[in-house]
Amino acid sequence: MSALLGAMEAGGTKFVCAASKRGEILAQTRISTGAPEITLAAARQFFETVIAEHGELSALGIAAFGPLDLRNGSPTYGHLLATPKHGWAGTDLVAPFARRFGCPISIDTDVNAAAIAETSQGAARGCRTAVYVTVGTGIGGGTVVDGRTLRGSPHPEMGHIRVARHELDAAFAGVCPFHGDCLEGVASGPAIVARYGAPLDALPSDHEAIAVVGHYLGQLTANVLLMIAPERVILGGGVMNSEPLLRETRAAAARLLNGYGGYGATAGSLEQTVVAPGLGERSGIVGALVLAERALADRSRQT
Ligand code: ZN
Repeated sequence: MSALLGAMEAGGTKFVCAASKRGEILAQTRISTGAPEITLAAARQFFETVIAEHGELSALGIAAFGPLDLRNGSPTYGHLLATPKHGWAGTDLVAPFARRFGCPISIDTDVNAAAIAETSQGAARGCRTAVYVTVGTGIGGGTVVDGRTLRGSPHPEMGHIRVARHELDAAFAGVCPFHGDCLEGVASGPAIVARYGAPLDALPSDHEAIAVVGHYLGQLTANVLLMIAPERVILGGGVMNSEPLLRETRAAAARLLNGYGGYGATAGSLEQTVVAPGLGERSGIVGALVLAERALADRSRQT
């Protein structure tokens, strides 16, 4: 009998849950993120319904917003740490499912899962090293090296690095509740709305927001290339759904690199390296399914 795999992409705005067998999605749902108990109960109910029709879950993969405790052996493994998302700090994302379903569960950050998905099926297919960055309500990055995601203590938070301010933007205080004008504080979706009164896709394509936000994302991109040297930097998330912004980000990164490190000094030279996602908005849920496959394979190896 083939395995029934569950996947959950836990986002700050929505949860996407899916079930798959033999690589085919059997069911999928989308739940607006509300209070933790209500949202997690709705997700559990989705899997109950799937199980009633298709049999027990063999494994579950969870791709979640963070920060998350992913330290092996930690008593709060799989819990959300301090997060600006109201009511979610300290929430255990694993136990509600482990108690009920009793199957192997693998959890990772949404961006690490997206990086896995893009390396297995998307824009970084065949690459040994790739970084996936999401620019949306928040900014985060996930890294895959030789098929494994990079975790630490607990995991990288590249959305909160310091950035040099753009000369047209020096007066903006930034919106990060922890750091003010860190990268997320000046280049995330909420930062764009706070500064310009509208999201990027509602502004003209020649609006100064492109130059300002590209200036910041270019710094992250150049820093990622210099620190990790990935074969691909994949820029996803709602804000990046803008070709002019992708071009400006490449151009800003190339200006900073200035031909150093084997990279060219023009935006065009980064076209193959700094790319849009191959899986579009599906990278999170596809990544969660890959996590479930791996959890099942790990369990099989142990028994
Ligand atoms: Zn911050």
